[in-house]
Amino acid sequence: MGVLQGKTAIVTGASSGIGAATAKALRREGVRVAVGARRADRLEGDLALELDVTDPASCERFVERAVAELGGLDVLVNGAGLALGRDSFDESTEEDEQVVLHTNVDGLIRMTRLCLPHMRLWGHIVNLGSIAGRQAYEHAALYVASKFAVRGFTYALREDLLGRPIRITTVDPGLVETDFSLVRFRGDSEKARAVYAGVEAMRPEDVAECILFALTRPPHVNVDELVVKALAQSSGGRILRTE
Ligand code: NAP
Repeated sequence: MGVLQGKTAIVTGASSGIGAATAKALRREGVRVAVGARRADRLEGDLALELDVTDPASCERFVERAVAELGGLDVLVNGAGLALGRDSFDESTEEDEQVVLHTNVDGLIRMTRLCLPHMRLWGHIVNLGSIAGRQAYEHAALYVASKFAVRGFTYALREDLLGRPIRITTVDPGLVETDFSLVRFRGDSEKARAVYAGVEAMRPEDVAECILFALTRPPHVNVDELVVKALAQSSGGRILRTE
């Protein structure tokens, strides 16, 4: 029997990409998973509920129901996140700034605050950061700022959790082929496809495996950070393409 068998988890951003793959991988390991996202019709989990991480009332409702139905919480995976646009900062807008920061930063912090009181001994929080949170690349200022914030928050929370049996990990992926680019380019599928052209990007399942690795270490081991990139990517701005 695997070490995750019988545990419970909340996965945000589970309607697509890395969140969906993570929920699936956890369920395969015998974890009961409450999944959330705005597009509730796309969710697959033991408990699937609409969740907008930018809306405090939605988050409160979600956590209350999830904890009641799961009967306690062992794992929180903060997967909900997005980028908007690939423009110079001068061309970015206040509206985009609010959506990106409210989702990636405020939403992640809010869900963490709401879940923490319910976490059982040896609970584990996994935050989806990005290589954008480690090194800036051009025309991505809002996203880069949001992911640096995720890393800063994770470091700070680790300080505050010291002495409590709760582990905390950031997983920072490079290029993963998901709907991320379709969202970033506001539904322009041609631009989104070009991001993954001529390169073998990671699949969401690759990142889910990294999350499982962190979750399945012995209780005294905390994987602080896990940076994972496609072999053909050396940094946020540098990708080797075959064409
Ligand atoms: P994705 O396929 O577009 O999935 C993003 C998920 O976030 C969706 O389930 C979306 O669901 C959810 N979401 C967005 N806004 C939300 C909100 N306000 N409330 C609740 N859920 C919300 O993209 P992905 O690649 O899997 O991204 C997952 C995470 O990995 C993000 O944090 C992203 O920054 C990070 N990441 C991705 C890459 C990459 O190359 N793909 C690289 C590094 C890091 P709804 O739209 O249904 O709400």
